[in-house]
Amino acid sequence: MTVERTSIDTLVVGAGQAGIAMSEHLSRLGVPHLVLERARIAERWRTGRWDSLVANGPAWHDRFPNLEFTDVDPDGFASKEQVADYFVAYAQKFDAPIRTGVEVKQIVRNAVRQGFTIETSEGTIEAHRVVVATGPFQRPVVPPIAPQDSSLTQIHSADYHNPAQLPEGGVLVVGAGSSGVQIADELQRAGKRVYLSVGAHDRPPRAYRGRDFCWWLGVLGEWDAEVMKPGREHVTIAVSGSRGGHTVDFRRLAQQGITLVGLTKSFGNGVATFEADLAANIARGDENYLSLLDAADAYAERNGLDLPREPEARVIPADPECVTHPLHDLDLAKAGVTSIVWATGYAVDFSWLNVDAFDEKGKPKHQRGVSNEPGVYFLGLPWLSRRGSAFIWGVWHDAKHIADHIVTQRKYLAYYDRSQHHAPGRGEESAECANGASAGSRVHRVSEMGVN
Ligand SMILES: Cc1cc2nc3c(=O)[nH]c(=O)nc-3n(C[C@H](O)[C@H](O)[C@H](O)COP(=O)(O)OP(=O)(O)OC[C@H]3O[C@@H](n4cnc5c(N)ncnc54)[C@H](O)[C@@H]3O)c2cc1C
Repeated sequence: MTVERTSIDTLVVGAGQAGIAMSEHLSRLGVPHLVLERARIAERWRTGRWDSLVANGPAWHDRFPNLEFTDVDPDGFASKEQVADYFVAYAQKFDAPIRTGVEVKQIVRNAVRQGFTIETSEGTIEAHRVVVATGPFQRPVVPPIAPQDSSLTQIHSADYHNPAQLPEGGVLVVGAGSSGVQIADELQRAGKRVYLSVGAHDRPPRAYRGRDFCWWLGVLGEWDAEVMKPGREHVTIAVSGSRGGHTVDFRRLAQQGITLVGLTKSFGNGVATFEADLAANIARGDENYLSLLDAADAYAERNGLDLPREPEARVIPADPECVTHPLHDLDLAKAGVTSIVWATGYAVDFSWLNVDAFDEKGKPKHQRGVSNEPGVYFLGLPWLSRRGSAFIWGVWHDAKHIADHIVTQRKYLAYYDRSQHHAPGRGEESAECANGASAGSRVHRVSEMGVN
């Protein structure tokens, strides 16, 4: 399959949930577009996550508005494969113009004419505008403190699949957001000796007074928060939908046999050292947990909601030994630790996007995804417009805003004043058909291509 040198109104890069949401809104508004995906639809849900991963939110919440999961109970948690299948079905539902197996290698703004030239693995494309939907979590980040020690197996959570992948022996899991706690739990249940390095975190209750925390964050306006509270850039959220969903409780993980340690500070001579912040991190996580219960109670009372009271949710057990007398260092060989799992997050990579849309630190400059470089849009980034932006339900609403912006811009560009009434080659429609046909007509629809 080759992509002939062709012209399209709007090119969307990436067919994860963001690219699919974008395509739905553009289709609805009649904007000719093409989605290019280097692998398969929702590839990151298929291969960029561990085998046992299920969605962190229940199926009624973690979905787009126009389709329910058919194979998951609304209060259940879809497996990663079910999430990926959901997006394939969603794209088929509106016949999304997606080409899989085509990588965008470079995008350059055209000189003295409108639009962009896009080099792909299958040829060159011209587009009036581009929507970058390549994901919030593109490049796994391992901090520079990682030891240069060939006797240790070290992997990032993006490359973790299951316990069998790791060698015999204990594991240090660094990072206790949703990925770190779930992986540590799985490794411990598989019989491994596990040390879990815990930094600053939020840990909302899985459910309270009969409602999932996703519901509480929704009604309390937390998903819609537009900016991150200052000083919370390094605070992760620890939630889990695994084993039917449960509240992440570090004390319970310790009772289970996991040794909690503070933030990992350094490695030297085979010894890991940890900050003396474990008890404080656990206490701050409790504060966050209790503050959500308080806000939920206040909301229920103010609105006269008849939800069952749950006083037992406020009982916080005593700190375990590993919190009251924390390890400050760990000789990895003596402790039998043979591997490290870095659950330390991701960065973005826009090295292929040669446009003037970044600040001096390389961060995209945009307002709700509309870049300061006309014609460039970003979608799916954390906090693009609000807290929910990188999540399944949130990206759909951000895509809607971007699609509306695109339609408005198309109207401006399609405007002719009277003197130009017969001038060929001006405006969007003529530009789209520059090579004789709308590029949309050459696009293989998802249903024709099959989804590989
Ligand atoms: C472990 C984990 C669990 C998560 N669980 C949940 C959850 O339960 N609920 C929830 O709402 N959110 C969850 N998220 C957050 C978010 O929903 C996912 O990260 C989701 O994959 C983001 O979708 P996206 O479409 O923005 O990006 P991605 O899924 O990353 O999709 C981007 C696509 O772009 C393609 N691409 C990249 N570069 C190019 C290129 N140059 N050319 C062509 N194609 C390209 C990639 O192949 C990929 O398919 C989770 C995230 C992680 C890491």
